[in-house]
Amino acid sequence: MSNTEHGGIQIELAHIFPIIKKWLYSEKEIFLREIASNACDAVTKLRRLISLGEAKGVDAENAKITVTLDKTARTITVTDEGIGMTEEELRRYICQIALSGALDFIQKYEGEGDASQNGIIGHFGLGFYSAFMVSETVEVVTRSYTGAPAVHWTCNGDGEFDITPDYDVDGEIGAYGTAVIMHISEEGEEFLNEYKMKEVLEKYCAFMPVPIYFVDADKPEEAEQECHCHEDGEACTCEAEGKECTCNKPINETTPLWLKNPSDCTDEEYKEFYRKLFHDYKEPLFWIHLKADYPLNFKGILYFPRIANEYESLEGQVKLYYNQVFVADNIKEVIPEYLLMLKGVLDCPELPLNVSRSYLQNSGYVAKISAHITKKVGDKLNSMFNTDREAFEGLWRDLKTFVEYACMRDRKFYDRVRDIVLFEKCGGGFVTLNEYLEAAKEKHENKVYYATDATAQTQYIQMFRNENIDVLLLDRVIDTQFITTVEMNGENVKFARVDAETPDVLKDDGDKTEIPALKDLFAKVAGEHTSIAFDRFRDAAAPAILNVSEESRRMQDMMKLYKMEGMSDFPVESTLVLNTASPLVHKLTSLCDEGKNELAETIARQIYALSTMSQRPFTADELTAFLTDSYSILEKLS
Ligand code: ADP
Repeated sequence: MSNTEHGGIQIELAHIFPIIKKWLYSEKEIFLREIASNACDAVTKLRRLISLGEAKGVDAENAKITVTLDKTARTITVTDEGIGMTEEELRRYICQIALSGALDFIQKYEGEGDASQNGIIGHFGLGFYSAFMVSETVEVVTRSYTGAPAVHWTCNGDGEFDITPDYDVDGEIGAYGTAVIMHISEEGEEFLNEYKMKEVLEKYCAFMPVPIYFVDADKPEEAEQECHCHEDGEACTCEAEGKECTCNKPINETTPLWLKNPSDCTDEEYKEFYRKLFHDYKEPLFWIHLKADYPLNFKGILYFPRIANEYESLEGQVKLYYNQVFVADNIKEVIPEYLLMLKGVLDCPELPLNVSRSYLQNSGYVAKISAHITKKVGDKLNSMFNTDREAFEGLWRDLKTFVEYACMRDRKFYDRVRDIVLFEKCGGGFVTLNEYLEAAKEKHENKVYYATDATAQTQYIQMFRNENIDVLLLDRVIDTQFITTVEMNGENVKFARVDAETPDVLKDDGDKTEIPALKDLFAKVAGEHTSIAFDRFRDAAAPAILNVSEESRRMQDMMKLYKMEGMSDFPVESTLVLNTASPLVHKLTSLCDEGKNELAETIARQIYALSTMSQRPFTADELTAFLTDSYSILEKLS
């Protein structure tokens, strides 16, 4: 170390140091991503030089990276067998960091408190310096592939460094490459733990392109056991041989599935990848392997998760990578919000690894990625529908919440999938909107009838079925919102719940003249929010049905959904339609004519009560009155 030179860091760098340490990164653990990805870059660069014939006699085929945790020495060391640096390069790349971006940043945010709150997810070519978030001193030992002498550099937390050219390597690195030795400070204490280290490596480095080995210096027996099975890229054979596996395997997969050609990937590989990545043991419904070429240039796999039930959180997880380096989960700016219900990975090398949210929000590139994904998802759904309708129907219940939600949020997506959105029919089976409207042409053009509760509304559903009219079952809250979207999207169609109106085909041509005595009688029992009307149905069984205006019911549903206090008590206007085809209605008319008013009123109350059953449960008072009336009628019968 006789040649050791003492230097002072430039004023700007000294200025930056406390900032890096305090708040440039929202998460301290990012240091490992930065140092490991520099190491990967170093190997990748060397491989490129070799392939260009510019690094003769150098071999990087089996080059690896080692991350060593030494709790006793309180160090974390990242060693690579990459390109290395000459003294001059070390001075240029490490000592004089590119400051322009960083200085701008500081000027902009100084005094604004915590940068992480400003949504900064990155930095400005300062990756190496993130090591100081967890270190009091950082050492670098490096030797260039060119054979230039090794260099040693050490720098403390105040930015003062010592540089030793012609350094005598003491086993820190091999023939070429770099070791970054981080002497962990109190702030970095949590990383002096093998589980924490493995967790962070797993999070950020699981798919980096160079094999990364983790070594716990306290367990030298593990460290020495280089995985013999992995030497030539073969899978570990210990398990197959029934041996306990002590091989030190790389923590990463260097060629993740998304980089492969979709035609070379098997279903089992996709499912395995999904299980590994999301620890979700429910099989995904299906997946889309994305491969967008120039100019978008990104790859990824998106999975449609199986949703156990309506109430399960719909939050998915889309992991964003930059050249196989994990960046973040669920970046709203890149993935349309409704696609965040999906799970998967996106690798976007065109996006700078370290970018601010405001960049993402305003980037035309990001908008294009987002549009591309939406298109691919729509295309996939269409192709599934067209190639195997039965299988598509089998998946529909799991898919529909997602599809309906996406349609509500994005008109373009709606247009893309409009023809393949399925509706379930009461009594089973599925139809598309077009199929339904085609069948309805003669009897009820451009009108779709639906039920929200197959049990409560069964009387209506039956009346429709008797005339061969299909009734759709829209029994989830989102369904009713979705049909409003369909109507608003300019489709020439109206949806009506079975109790909203009675289509003409269910009616009879016979006499439907109003009977004034009954009108008065029912007006008295039904109360002020129900008007009385007369009609004649082909089905004579029901003496009356209660119709509720579609608009005001939907309005009330919405108020309930959004818990608009007080508003949901607002009464819904309804019409009690008396069926002049019903024998009971005629008997009731006779009772009125004969002046048997008390009995007539009891029966009228009962008819009204029965008609409300499809709408809502009885209140306590109503139930009491209903039981009393029922007993008194039974008494009269006996
Ligand atoms: P960035 O990686 O964004 O350029 P860094 O601060 O992380 O910024 O690194 C600065 C430079 O130092 C790199 O561009 C590279 O030239 C050099 N460097 C860092 N780590 C290594 C390494 N392990 N091997 C070789 N060169 C390295």
